[in-house]
This record gives sequence, structure tokens and C-alpha cells, in this order.
Amino acid sequence: QIKGRRDRHYIFYDELNHESIQENRELEEHFETALENEEFEIWYQPKYSAHSRKLVGAEALVRWRRADGALIPPLKFIPLFERNGNIIRLDEYVFRAVCRQQKEWQKQGQKMLPVSVNISRVSLYYSSVVEKYESIIRSFDLDSKYIQLEITESATIDNNEIFNLLEQFHTAGFKILLDDFGSGYSSLATLNRMHFDTIKLDKSLVDYIGDDNGEKLLNSITKLAQSFGMEITAEGVETVEQLMFLCNLDCDDIQGYYFSRPLPVKEYEECLKEACM
Ligand code: C2E
Ligand code: MG
Ligand code: MG
Ligand code: MG
Repeated sequence: QIKGRRDRHYIFYDELNHESIQENRELEEHFETALENEEFEIWYQPKYSAHSRKLVGAEALVRWRRADGALIPPLKFIPLFERNGNIIRLDEYVFRAVCRQQKEWQKQGQKMLPVSVNISRVSLYYSSVVEKYESIIRSFDLDSKYIQLEITESATIDNNEIFNLLEQFHTAGFKILLDDFGSGYSSLATLNRMHFDTIKLDKSLVDYIGDDNGEKLLNSITKLAQSFGMEITAEGVETVEQLMFLCNLDCDDIQGYYFSRPLPVKEYEECLKEACM
């Protein structure tokens, strides 16, 4: 208080902090009812082939629709739920919802394209995680080629247990995408140690395009990943210059605002229908 009187910024910071603590507590308290009331919505961000420009699938991204209609972005609650462990149930909820949706599209005779689901590193630490995901997808009678798993780089650093988990997921038929590649540490060591089907170049790398050294870096990284037999998806592609550069590097898939923002399910369904025509 005394300190605050001397420095207005101190008070301001303190109030902000207090507000976000309150907000977090509020979100934590409502997690259970939000699950029950199905307040978590899955949005789908389309991915396109760099060469044919055709739709090749989507990434499932969660949002929280509060009772008052407000839509809360994942970065407001995912880190919180990673700290209190709720993320394990949320990831499972999203996975189940995407399985259900894919099955529904299959019944409707829609074009079947893979959807990738994000799995937090926290979710990977409970022992029966692979069995759990396998049993969920089996309960929908859905082929695991229709669901892919996105795992972040930080989840994979130097950890034999995760290495084994990835092998088990592969055996169960899931493709594994290394998410946010280039945003963290020891990226190259990660590539050497674990087998990923696809690496997703983080937006921060894509934003290097236009910079001479940045482009050299991207060039080497994609060459390396390709030499390991991995496919490459670029994230956060916003401009035609970025798109052209990534095409020249022989990137496989493009995800970003240039083609589309994440879409509510009905709008993505329209994309699927168009892809059929
Ligand atoms: P992510 O998995 O790296 O997903 C990509 C994020 O980049 C999404 O943000 C997407 O909307 C955004 N994005 C895509 N293209 C562009 C672009 O061209 N420009 C810009 N500026 N942004 C773009 P979103 O939906 O806010 O999700 C943020 C993060 O939250 C995700 O990053 C992921 O780490 C996490 N997340 C979302 N859903 C789930 C989930 O179900 N489970 C877990 N564990 N994490 C999730
Ligand atoms: Mg992702
Ligand atoms: Mg990402
Ligand atoms: Mg990211």
C-alpha cells in the first residue's frame, strides 16, 4: 500500500494481477459444470495442400462458450488447466468430441479427412493414456487414420517414457505431429531421437520469411526433417509471400489465416462439402 502510493504502476500491476487471479479461480470453479453443460466447443482450422491447394484436413481447437455467450480462447484456460490437472479430462473430452464428429460425418457420407487433436504434455504423463485413447476411438468404431495427435516440442525433450508412448500411439495407428516446432529448445535433438510423422513449423519460424538468415534457417530445417522422412506443415501462414516461399521449400501442408481462420463446425462442414465438388 505504502509502496503503491509512491508508484502508481505498482498499484496498477497489483490490481491486474488480482483480477486475473479472480478470473482464474472463477474458471477453475466452473470447469465441472462446463463439461456437463457442453460449454467447450470444437472449432476446426482447415489445412491445405501447398501444391494442389486442396483441403487436406483440419486441426481441432477448443474454445469455451460461457453461459453469457462469451467465447474464451484456449490460452486463457489451457495453461491454468495444465497446472491443476483438469487438462487431462479436457483433452479427453475434445478427443471424444472429434471422434463423435468424424463418425457423424462418415455416416453422412461426407469426405473423410484427418483431424488433428492437441494433447498436452500433462495428459501424456498418466500411465494408461494410450489404452484410454484407443478405447475411446474403438468405442466409436472409427479408424485411427482419421484422428492425428499434436504434441508440443516441450513435451518431448529427453524423455524415454514419452518416446515409448509415441511408439505405442503409432502401433495404435495414430499419426503424430510435432507441434510448435522451432519455438522451444533442442529442436534438432528431438528430431533425431523420436519419430514424428509430421513437423509443424511454428508461426515464429514462418514469420522469418523475408529475412535472409531466417530463410536459410527454414531451408535447413525443412531439408533436415524431409531427410528424416517427415512431412512438413507450416502454421500461421498469413501472406502470399510466405505461401510461395513454403511451396518452394516443398512443404506439404499449409495452415493459417491466408487460407482460413479456425471455423465453427458447421462452417468447416461447408468446406468438406466444397472439397467433394
Ligand atoms: P496450436 O496448437 O499451435 O494451434 C495454432 C494456434 O494458432 C491456434 O490458436 C490458431 O487459431 C492460431 N493460428 C492459426 N493460424 C494463424 C495465423 O495465420 N495467424 C495467427 N496469428 N494465428 C494463427 P488458438 O486456437 O488460440 O489455440 C492456441 C493454443 O491452445 C494451441 O496452439 C494449442 O496449444 C492450445 N489448444 C487449443 N485447443 C487445445 C486442446 O484441445 N487441448 C490442448 N491441450 N491444447 C489446446
Ligand atoms: Mg496444435
Ligand atoms: Mg502449433
Ligand atoms: Mg502455436
